[in-house]
Amino acid sequence: MPALPSPTYRTRYAPSPTGEMHLGHARTHLVAWLRARAAGGRIVMRIDDLDPPRVRPGAADAFLRDHEWLGLDWDEGPVFQSAPERQAAYAEALVALEAAGHLYPCTCSRREWMEIASAPHGEGPPRYPGTCRAGPSHPERPAALRFRLHGPTPRFDDLVFGPSGGTDEGDFVVRRADGLVAYQLAVVVDDREQRITEVVRGADLLAATGLQRALFAALGAPAPAALHVPLVLGKDGERLAKRNGARGVRRYREEGLEAEELLGLLGASLGLVPPGSRATRAELLERSETLVEGLPRKPLTLTPERGDA
Ligand code: GLU
Repeated sequence: MPALPSPTYRTRYAPSPTGEMHLGHARTHLVAWLRARAAGGRIVMRIDDLDPPRVRPGAADAFLRDHEWLGLDWDEGPVFQSAPERQAAYAEALVALEAAGHLYPCTCSRREWMEIASAPHGEGPPRYPGTCRAGPSHPERPAALRFRLHGPTPRFDDLVFGPSGGTDEGDFVVRRADGLVAYQLAVVVDDREQRITEVVRGADLLAATGLQRALFAALGAPAPAALHVPLVLGKDGERLAKRNGARGVRRYREEGLEAEELLGLLGASLGLVPPGSRATRAELLERSETLVEGLPRKPLTLTPERGDA
């Protein structure tokens, strides 16, 4: 049974300012907005700017503007993961995990361990084979910190995908060798502190959610409910990216697409309005009672009629 939304409902938008807001982000964040507003809950805007070399100047502001244009408002934040107080919170969590024996230093390079790793049954990406579990393979090198998984990731019931988790993922990095905190750790510390009750994110993060559940358990914190939104794909059937025609929401806007046209397109892709409709966010909200049940389970491609090149 899907958990019913409640007035204590809290979710977040967590854009990475490494590129532009594309239709996949817009669709996922529309689902988050509808869930939160239907529940009378709150939305935190959180900027995942953990990796300074990958952050594009101006990208965070552009995400905020695109959200505003679409009417995807928020109640708290923006909170920046790069802020010193957030970094202090991540450092504290690392100390707690280390003290409880969950972490070990790892000095393998990705290339080195990928050479010996083979994915179980040839499925999915290769898993870290645990080379440094018994001690760093190259003690002279700077070490990353890995979280030790004792078996498959915790199982959970995703609101869209049903029974999930329980997969073998391999020990994963929580602090990189260059000292940067890894996404998996930061997101769990933030979700815990921001009292997020439901994480709405793209289906590409389903396996990551399993890793994060292991971290929640190790930190003694309850994990939020999970709602993974099936991906929007590019014209070639691959994940949306520049090379397969992904275009920023901003470009559609600049070329004259109206917010209600885009909301209509996204709403239709969520099964809320007939294809070709224009829609306001209020109209979508009115129809969102069966949002989770009616959400198409398959990835899809999306092409606004106007502004598509
Ligand atoms: N920053 C991630 C992204 O843009 C989402 C992270 C999350 O939902 O935890 O794909």
